[in-house]
Amino acid sequence: MESIAKNSLVFKIQRTAEKIFLMIKNDINQIDKTWIYILGIIGLNVLFACYNIPLKRAFQLQLFNIIFLVLIAFPGNKPLRLTGTILSIFSNLLLIILVTVQGILYANYNADLDSTFVIESLANTNLNESSEFLRSLPPTFIFPLILAGSFFLVQTALTLRLYSLRPTSSKFYKYFAVFLCGLSVFAWCKESWRVRFPTGETLKLTSAVEDMQQQWQMSKAENDAALVSAKALLGDISLQPQTIVLVIGESTTRQTMQLYGYIRKNTPMLTKEYQTNPAFLRSDEAYSTEASTIRAFESMFKFEFQQGKNKENLLAMFKAAGYKIIWISNQDDTAIKKTYQYFADKNFNLNHQKGRDSQSMDSVVLNPLKEALKDGTDKKLIVVHLIGLHPHYSLRYPAGTKRNWPEDDVVEKGLEAKDRSPRTQWLRDEYDLAMLYQDKIIYETLKMTESIKQKGTATWIYLSDHGVETGEHLDLVGHSPNTPGGYAIPFLFWSEKSGGSFNKSEAQTRNFRADWLSYLLMDLGGLNSSEMTKMKSWMSPEYQWKEPAVVEKISKKFGIIN
Ligand SMILES: [Zn+2]
Repeated sequence: MESIAKNSLVFKIQRTAEKIFLMIKNDINQIDKTWIYILGIIGLNVLFACYNIPLKRAFQLQLFNIIFLVLIAFPGNKPLRLTGTILSIFSNLLLIILVTVQGILYANYNADLDSTFVIESLANTNLNESSEFLRSLPPTFIFPLILAGSFFLVQTALTLRLYSLRPTSSKFYKYFAVFLCGLSVFAWCKESWRVRFPTGETLKLTSAVEDMQQQWQMSKAENDAALVSAKALLGDISLQPQTIVLVIGESTTRQTMQLYGYIRKNTPMLTKEYQTNPAFLRSDEAYSTEASTIRAFESMFKFEFQQGKNKENLLAMFKAAGYKIIWISNQDDTAIKKTYQYFADKNFNLNHQKGRDSQSMDSVVLNPLKEALKDGTDKKLIVVHLIGLHPHYSLRYPAGTKRNWPEDDVVEKGLEAKDRSPRTQWLRDEYDLAMLYQDKIIYETLKMTESIKQKGTATWIYLSDHGVETGEHLDLVGHSPNTPGGYAIPFLFWSEKSGGSFNKSEAQTRNFRADWLSYLLMDLGGLNSSEMTKMKSWMSPEYQWKEPAVVEKISKKFGIIN
């Protein structure tokens, strides 16, 4: 009877269930210790990292350490467990240092670890300065450092405790360990992730600092030569007191500015000012000859002083002529700094984050501009470089900025009629909102220049480095070398002297090209009155317009008649 019962199906099921139950019970007992420590160490690490850096990166960094933690719980292999313990403590130390340094940089300078701001500071610092800095640490650095030290001690104690535990032999552990190791191995194998580990970051930073020092050496020689050349070309000149404020926007196209007839009311302040201020002028057809920043800067500030000869650097010219140059920048750009800002007597670098993700509202330029305008020097060139409408557009206006045009307006219908993607449509909305914010900033810089009394004549110029496509000719909103929007820029001018002989209607119909900006500035600054300057300076009575080749080509392609 008994043997029959043992072979019955019910009995077999019962025995299997008992086995599974025992296995789970056994596993759960072991999970109690080993896994609580492993998950606890990972969890605490993520919490600490989140305190210092964004959540996504905090998680990404933890993946590197997981494989070492899993090794500690490796059943029965002591050397492997010891190796795991040592590697885990060491990698924890490096990760804690990295996130603490990045956290301090964010909190004190709003700067990324690989920003030009950090690279330049390191490239510009010698050993003496570093040790001096360490001896007199700012108080805001002290708390994060104490926190990091304490945290490292806690993590080390937990890791050693994990090592002292009896390794788990749970099946669950094995499956879960394989899964976690897989994630960790992926993080170590994928190059773009691996370089985020502290050793990778350090190598990247060291090579960026060396590159920067080399570039400085090279550009110093180049800039010194430009200065010698400028001095020789200018000779002895005597200049009238003069203040020139040059405001350079970013990625701003006149095609979508209310001031230029755009239907959305996104530049109400400038539009009203234009209607009421007789000295505030605009050129209706203004073009850049390049569609990206660095090339546009080169076209604006490197120019042929003598036909057929090497190009001169406009900033070197102003420097050689005895102007005080003050440069206020809300863009973190190495090339611009080393080639143009190099000549400035005073630099305000206000943005310490790189490129598209940087978040620094253009209002930061206003106080430095006020300070610069109050500078008592009688010959000044003040350059204000805005972040303007640099993508991502949603980062270019304060949260809560409200549109003052209807939801389903002609613009939206027009884009729909052109079958533009939803992405293009919402980017266009963001672009227009960012323009609404730019309106205030540009207007403020003009009003400040007007209101602070200068010695001699004051002049204010606004233009954008280049334009962008806004969904009119292509299904995209952004940099665009092949459509008219890429080159259609605004050009605005105000001078104490304008409004008389050189009036609004004359200015409107006088086209402007940004690669002739240097000639206009040379003319305004009283630096040169050669034939070439007269023909290419926008304010000269002898100005002779010539359409830029690139604009002609693109206009033809799109059937636009200028
Ligand atoms: Zn640009």
